[in-house]
Amino acid sequence: MKRIGVLTSGGDSPGMNAAVRAVVRKAIFHDMEVFGIYNGYQGLMEGNIKKMELGSVGDIIQRGGTILYSARSEEFKTEQGQEKAIEQLNKFGIEGLIVIGGDGSFRGAEKLTKKGYPCIGVPGTIDNDIPGTDYTIGFDTALNTIIDAIDKIRDTATSHERTYVVEVMGRNAGDLALWAGLADGAESILIPERPDDFEDVINKLKRGQARGKKHSIIILAEGVGNGMEYGQRIKDATDMDTRVTVLGHIQRGGSPSGFDRVLASRLGARAVDLLIEGKAGRMVGIQQNKLVDHDIIEILTHPHEIDLNMYKLSNELSI
Ligand code: ADP
Repeated sequence: MKRIGVLTSGGDSPGMNAAVRAVVRKAIFHDMEVFGIYNGYQGLMEGNIKKMELGSVGDIIQRGGTILYSARSEEFKTEQGQEKAIEQLNKFGIEGLIVIGGDGSFRGAEKLTKKGYPCIGVPGTIDNDIPGTDYTIGFDTALNTIIDAIDKIRDTATSHERTYVVEVMGRNAGDLALWAGLADGAESILIPERPDDFEDVINKLKRGQARGKKHSIIILAEGVGNGMEYGQRIKDATDMDTRVTVLGHIQRGGSPSGFDRVLASRLGARAVDLLIEGKAGRMVGIQQNKLVDHDIIEILTHPHEIDLNMYKLSNELSI
């Protein structure tokens, strides 16, 4: 394989740039040419493609976002859209493609692989919701952003003796909420993996209230429901002075943490190795600190799992 392409797709995450850098540098190290595809699959269909050099990825390892930009494309989901993408890949002589993104992006990569274009997926999403990898690129940075925000909210919650509901991202996964809850000593965590625990949360708040506890932090994963609605439900059930903070897109930005930069560098480089080894339709990941790869579609049929021991521990530590 002499010429490969790289794109970022779907929701962006801090560390995607570090992954792009690793792909470009590792490919050039192995005497291959690398083309950057801008705006994800949309840009691929439109031929928004430029050759990358060593210097194209200089000074980006520390930057959030993605220099290749990201996009969502409905057209690419169609046969016609995929044919257009293949025309462009042929035109540029690109023999293999590295797709940095989430599960939607991986489904697109699988479609191209089935049509004869070897693709490798690199998991980049703050949600940590991809099976087959313990961590996705961006999760650690987003976690630290949340911790930073909750530390600040805790100060004012204490001053004013209020209960705060903090809604965090994570799509259908509770990882960000769970890790942030444990890291921040939150009183309660509401995650989609434990949908029936609302009553326990209320009972715990009431117990705290009865023994004179003045403030509480409840972390709500967006996959459970709307922060405002849950804030109202908690206020109605406890009569506490309840406020809601929805952290929103600040969780997707910022300079990647050391962990995410290292993870992105390792996974990006491994993806290039897989193409060199002639592999296709694989996803790279990290499990127990070892680099692994899985069939990109088969792995998505596995349920995403959270560590329920961690959930139990967070409850034990916040009695
Ligand atoms: P993420 O990769 O973060 O999960 P999306 O689900 O939005 O984000 O997917 C990113 C893009 O991947 C979509 O806009 C679409 O172009 C492509 N994609 C998603 N699902 C499919 C699919 N089933 N077939 C082909 N392409 C897909």
